[in-house]
Amino acid sequence: MEYYFDRAADVIDLPDAERIILKRPIRELSVELPIKLDNGQWRVYHGYRVQHDNTRGPCKGGLRYHPSVSEDEVRALASLMTWKTALVDLPFGGAKGGISCEPQRLSEDEKQRLTRAFVRAIDDIIGPQRDIPAPDMNTNAQTMAWIMDEYSSRHGYSPAVVTGKPIGLMGVEGREDATGRGVQILTEAACPHFNIELKNATVVIQGFGNVGSNAALLLHRAGAKIIAIADASGAIQNAHGLDIPSLLEHYQAARTLKDFSGALELDSKTLLELPCDILIPAALGGVIDARIAGNLQAKLVVEAANSPVTAGGDQVLRERGIPVLPDILVNAGGVIVSYFEWTQNLTAFRWKVDAVHHELRATLIHAYDEVLRAAAEYKTDLRTAAYAVAINRVASAKRMRWLS
Ligand code: NAD
Repeated sequence: MEYYFDRAADVIDLPDAERIILKRPIRELSVELPIKLDNGQWRVYHGYRVQHDNTRGPCKGGLRYHPSVSEDEVRALASLMTWKTALVDLPFGGAKGGISCEPQRLSEDEKQRLTRAFVRAIDDIIGPQRDIPAPDMNTNAQTMAWIMDEYSSRHGYSPAVVTGKPIGLMGVEGREDATGRGVQILTEAACPHFNIELKNATVVIQGFGNVGSNAALLLHRAGAKIIAIADASGAIQNAHGLDIPSLLEHYQAARTLKDFSGALELDSKTLLELPCDILIPAALGGVIDARIAGNLQAKLVVEAANSPVTAGGDQVLRERGIPVLPDILVNAGGVIVSYFEWTQNLTAFRWKVDAVHHELRATLIHAYDEVLRAAAEYKTDLRTAAYAVAINRVASAKRMRWLS
């Protein structure tokens, strides 16, 4: 994160004092969460909430349940949120939270107790005008409903304390697939700039969760050929294009990509290096390092996951002239629709789903145009340009508020 920040800070000539202030989070909270398991034993989990910046509005960012969650990871993801919300010009800052746990080993009751304990532990620092969590890896609308309920039990009915809630509980239609839809909107917008025709373009996707599956479906509908997909259970391929609606049906029943009749199995390790027009990492961070970047055969990388390309990988891709649509732009669809949800909760007014889709597209395309303009102005790559737009926006707001 610092590497990307510094590259953009150099390009825009950001003064040293502002670099120091903008790099550091404003608050980090680490909490211990003792939980009684279903078998009667107690276990203590570690949770984190890092608020990186609130210059342009309340902090905003997801809550992740995963064994790899650490203070360092949460800190990096919190700053990513600041640049993401600034790039798409939402009135939010950036935050991130996480609990180090193995969610697959927890029952729904245990997850509920863990979530409620976490909300009680961070109660002082969240709120509709302070910090608004949202879903991330292994958390979902149900998790958000527990957060809203726990927070409301102390502060009164507060739907705007969290986004990504169930539609029946002041959530919004269009939030569930917003990030995948954003991936499709930006891929479609970018293709002509890189001489790719989306219709029949070959696409490889890593990840078939919320982001990967929705992106796959919408790109399939737009005429692209999804030739390979991987998830944690393995990888599959079909050179003629996977039938994504049938794959979704299979996945819903089997909860795995394996044994899908319309595909052959593939070694997951080779997935990222397959020849294709568009490669979409939509699962974990750090999967494209310098070695894999050296072997990529894609014409365009679309970062649907957060930080899927390491700093070393980014350098190799730049040297090889393989363009990367950066995460802070590509996966901003989720936080954009979260913003629509928050405004609806504050005003107690509901939008129609068409309005959500329309505003999502307009916001993303406007941000993409700004990134293209900045890339031309600063003669730099798209990621550095995206960070430059975002950092300029936050730094200038900070100067207006208090920094001389
Ligand atoms: P998810 O938990 O719904 O899905 C994750 C997917 O990754 C699953 O299909 C899982 O099987 C797969 N996966 C895990 N390990 C893998 C491995 N080793 N190889 C291949 N696949 C693997 O999560 P999600 O919400 O789809 O998030 C995916 C990424 O997108 C994350 O980096 C997340 O931070 C980012 N993101 C998500 C949203 C959102 O709205 N959900 C918004 C912005 C960014």
